Formats: sequence, C-alpha cells, structure tokens
Amino acid sequence: MDKGVWFVNKIGMPKTAITASNIYKSYEDNLAVSGVGFTVPGATCFGFLGPNGAGKSTLMKIIYGRTRRDAYPKGNLSVLGWDPQQNELAIKYRAGVVSQDNNLDQELNVVQNLEIYSRFYDIAPDEAGKRIDELLDFMELTEKRNAPIRSLSGGMMRRLVMVRALLNRPQLLILDEPTTGLDPQVRHVIWDKLRKLKKDGITILLTTHYMEEAYQICDHVFIMDKGKKVMEGKPQELINQNIEPYVLEIIHPELVDSLFEIVDSTSIRKDRSAGVGRLYADSIKELETVLNHLNPGDFYLRQSNLEDLFFKATGRNLNEKQ
Ligand code: ADP
Repeated sequence: MDKGVWFVNKIGMPKTAITASNIYKSYEDNLAVSGVGFTVPGATCFGFLGPNGAGKSTLMKIIYGRTRRDAYPKGNLSVLGWDPQQNELAIKYRAGVVSQDNNLDQELNVVQNLEIYSRFYDIAPDEAGKRIDELLDFMELTEKRNAPIRSLSGGMMRRLVMVRALLNRPQLLILDEPTTGLDPQVRHVIWDKLRKLKKDGITILLTTHYMEEAYQICDHVFIMDKGKKVMEGKPQELINQNIEPYVLEIIHPELVDSLFEIVDSTSIRKDRSAGVGRLYADSIKELETVLNHLNPGDFYLRQSNLEDLFFKATGRNLNEKQ
C-alpha cells in the first residue's frame, strides 16, 4: 500500500525557495558559471539540464555553500532566505544534499552511517532511530539496515545517500546527477520517490544530463551550456513553443544526403547535428514523401523532446563532452 510521505517539515516553508541573479564563478581563466539567474518556487522540482561541463555542479555547490561565487560582477543569492556565503549553517540545517559522489563510510554498515550523520545534526538518539526506520522504509532499504556498504548495489547506495540527506527533515533537497550510472529500472524507482517527496511539499533542485529525467520529474527546467542559460520553462511548454512537434531521425548516415535532397518543402527543417540526420515538421503528413523512400529499420519517427531543443539551440548533443 502506498503510505505516502508525511515526514517533510512544512513549518516555515518559504513560498520562494531560491532567488539567484547574476551568479558568476571562475576557476582561474575558466568561467564555469557565467551570469545566471533564476527563481525556484517552493514545493516544486527545478532541474538544471545540460551536458558535462555546463556548470551545473558548480552552481549546486554555490547554492549549498560549498563553493564561493565570484565577488565581481556582483550577484545575489537567497536560499531559503539566507545567503550561503554568509549563513552556510542555516542552509545546511534546512537542506539535504545528495552530491555526485556517494561518500558513505565503508567501515560502517547502513544504519551506522545514518546514526553518525544524525549526530552531526544533533538529533536525539530516539528521534534519530524513528527517522531512520521511516526513511529506510520509504526508500525500500529496511532489509539492508545491517548490511555493509560494499554489499550494496549502485542504486541502493544512491537511495541510502537520499535517506541520509532527508534525516534532518529538509525543506530543500539538492541532488547532483541523482541517477547517473544507474540502470533505467532503478532510475524509475528514484523518480517515483522524488515525486512523492515533492507532493508532500519539499522543494527539489537537481542537475541532470538526461533529458528524460528533466522531462519526467521537473516542473521547471533550466537548460545550461558553457556556464550560461540556454532557455528555461516548463518542459512540455519549452518543446511546444520552440520546436516542431515531429522528428524523423534517419538511422543510416549513408541515406541522409539523398533524403535531404528529396525534401524541398520549406516547412521541413533539416538538421545534421551530432552526426545524425533529422527532419523536423509540424505534422507527420509533411514527412510522408520522405517516409515513402524509407524501409522499416531505416528511421525513427517520434515526437520532439528536450534533447532536440538542445540540438537546435546549441548544435550539440546533451551527452557530448566539452
Ligand atoms: P557540470 O556539473 O555541468 O558537468 P561543472 O560545474 O562540474 O559542470 O564544471 C563546469 C566547468 O568548471 C568545467 O569546465 C570544469 O572543468 C570546471 N571546474 C569545475 N570544478 C572545478 C574545480 N574545482 N577546479 C577547476 N575547474 C573546475
């Protein structure tokens, strides 16, 4: 039975979780974050989508106070009402962080990892025990409570780090690439947990380079590339407003030139980013002439997605290394 989630602390939950403007961060001569700004409403899932090196992790670290943003140009950042540069501890007490690296203590078992962490937050042992039990249950890890860390799968470790991040009943949960490296089934389990948490009022901030993850769980997506904003909005609205709804992807590269020649309609947009030929159109009917020249197995006909949007805006692929 779905028990739902009841452990999110809603007391004093701000309407707006984060406001940021003009945030810069450089590492020597490398500008990792270049003048970004955004507003994250409370109790929503806000996702930063972009390829490796886009500046997403750096931005997360600035938000939870692990990295200092540049002093100039001057920017503003308010996280749950505090500036992480001045009140890092206030944010730590109200936020939970799941960083890319699981950093669990290999010497300790599952429950011991959680007990130690609860002491950092000064949670009384009885209360900590109660929270650990309910969170292990929520993340479907109760059976693993005495298991050594090295015996856990990647997906279990990720869920355990999420349990750890939720021990302090955070109002804001920050996840840096929560499902990278996990198989699709585990990814769906984690998305399901995040949806439940959001439903119960927690604000979720996450980074991802999986367009499906951004599409499935984010209310709002902020697409980044090379430290800058590319565009932002509700995933489906971004697609509806910025790209043709249908795409014909030509699988065999040797077919692309001849098929592109057949297309003389100005309403079909040809694209060859990342070595793949794609034809974008407002209706499937417009693609019929090309389809008549193709055999099954030569093509995919599908709806456009956030990845197509990223291609259109940057000419590159979300999984491409910079
Ligand atoms: P993403 O999370 O989108 O993959 P990052 O924020 O990790 O991007 O990196 C953005 C840029 O900043 C990259 O060019 C990366 O090499 C650089 N960078 C990140 N962290 C450091 C660091 N500690 N020292 C120097 N350069 C860094």
